[in-house]
Amino acid sequence: MAGTRPIVHIVGAGPGDPDLLTVKARRLIDEAEVVVYDRLVSDPILALIPPGTTRIFAGKVAYNHLMPQPEINDLLVGLARSGRRVLRLKGGDPFVFGRGGEEALHLARNGVRYEVVPGVTSASGCGAYTGIPLTHRDMAHGLRYVTGHTKDEADELNWASLADPDTTLVFYMGRTNVDRISAQLIAHGLPAEMPAAAVVNGTRPDQNAVITTLGELPDRVRSLNKAAPTLLIIGRVVALAEQLSWVSAPGDRNAEATG
Ligand code: SAH
Repeated sequence: MAGTRPIVHIVGAGPGDPDLLTVKARRLIDEAEVVVYDRLVSDPILALIPPGTTRIFAGKVAYNHLMPQPEINDLLVGLARSGRRVLRLKGGDPFVFGRGGEEALHLARNGVRYEVVPGVTSASGCGAYTGIPLTHRDMAHGLRYVTGHTKDEADELNWASLADPDTTLVFYMGRTNVDRISAQLIAHGLPAEMPAAAVVNGTRPDQNAVITTLGELPDRVRSLNKAAPTLLIIGRVVALAEQLSWVSAPGDRNAEATG
């Protein structure tokens, strides 16, 4: 829009279902002049970007970064300084493992105006679309979002504090380390029978949810599509999926009670 100061909108696109976009995200998609988007932004959401809008893919795959973060940071500053309305579109919520914080810090340090628009994080999306309430008064008093992909191997998680049967654990980026996650949580006291789920492509037409146990989780995850985003949910609440799952299953979605 002519006459306005440059601004970068850092916007959460949610886990995939375009109906889960916020009204604000939807409006900003229409107003943007350039959209910088991640691999996790789903195709139906990308299809909402008007044809005349410039699109830049800044996708990242763990261990195989297509565009290093500093480059994305500089790109956003450069685009904003060129006077265009920039939409930085990210999967889920920008401030939940989305590195939105790093991008916002970089913009702030460079004096570029920005605004962060929250999105539905994949934990909420996957919970809702698989019938797993993330908390429940009788089953989980708290909820932890944990990264399964630590910055380097030395960056160990505090397993003793994570192995709490009263807390639901949600592991983002946990697929590669699912063996270690399962083994460490059991070693630190969680029962192998603790209900656990792996949700692949959550909220998308090809969503696939496996409901199993912590002990069986690694074996069950191995059979799932490697390339697709996968969320791990561990805790008593997972057992409720059997009663609460409501998504009519396309494809081979699998919601058995045990592994
Ligand atoms: N900011 C995002 C998370 C980015 S980290 C959010 O708030 O959701 C990337 C991880 O998110 C993936 O490895 C996967 O664990 C999870 N994820 C994102 N979208 C997902 C989806 N549709 N289904 C399952 N997991 C998803």
